[in-house]
Amino acid sequence: MIIRFAPSPTGPLHLGHAYSALLAHDMARAQGGKFLLRIDDLDQSRARPEWEDLILEDLHWLGIRWDGPVRRQSDHFESYQAALTGLAKLGAVYPCRCSRADIAAAANAPQEGVPDFGPDGRIYLGTCRARTFEDRTPNDALRYDLSKTVGPPSRMPAFTETGPTHAGIHDVTAKHLLTRVGDPVLARPAMAASYHFAVILDDAETRVTDVIRGEDLFEATYLQRFLQWELGLPAPTYHHHRLIRDENGKRLAKRDDARAILKYRADGESPADIRSRVGL
Ligand code: GLU
Repeated sequence: MIIRFAPSPTGPLHLGHAYSALLAHDMARAQGGKFLLRIDDLDQSRARPEWEDLILEDLHWLGIRWDGPVRRQSDHFESYQAALTGLAKLGAVYPCRCSRADIAAAANAPQEGVPDFGPDGRIYLGTCRARTFEDRTPNDALRYDLSKTVGPPSRMPAFTETGPTHAGIHDVTAKHLLTRVGDPVLARPAMAASYHFAVILDDAETRVTDVIRGEDLFEATYLQRFLQWELGLPAPTYHHHRLIRDENGKRLAKRDDARAILKYRADGESPADIRSRVGL
């Protein structure tokens, strides 16, 4: 078993991160498996080395130890680019210059029961699909044309989920992807790869067998599994855990400094106190 914890260095770790990291770490150790630490610093405009330092310090304080060196996404931009070029050869990657406002304007009056937003933002209706990869410019994002490759159900992949809310085997269907996700972004002008694209490449390269992460990423798994399948990458087992919420039921955000691990440390709490706060 190989499990990873993959925080983004864009703010301090809070109770929600501590829960995710401890759960993943405990599972790996209980199985005699490996626990890897990856720093998801894809978005270089928001990542800060000082946040990374604090993340490592907080994890260490919590009693979490990782196997091997820390992996940083920023060290792998070339391999993301190479994978993107490989995928483009299949003929389904196209450049897109639509702004958020363009995408919103292209969406017709919302239909009842059909979501406007998916795990990749507003569902994109394929305005730029006629453009070709060869015609891309540095100012374009690159998207994957789902309508070109989604085959009949017998050709589609599936993933196994072991988390408490959605346990079971989930088929990835063409209909699901087209209506609930839309053509995903694979790269942006100032970003070598999008989150979904980088994550599946990272997980495959580090041979992750089990992805343990928050329930907010469950919906994104359909898209990530689909991209893995298109690239011929192996599928990990997924476990999406409950989210830690504040007293109003809102999930914690990075800016929620009141629940930063650093603050509990400063208040004299122990790692055992943090475990009990998150129900572990
Ligand atoms: N870096 C992502 C985050 O902080 C997690 C990536 C993943 O688990 O797939 O939300």
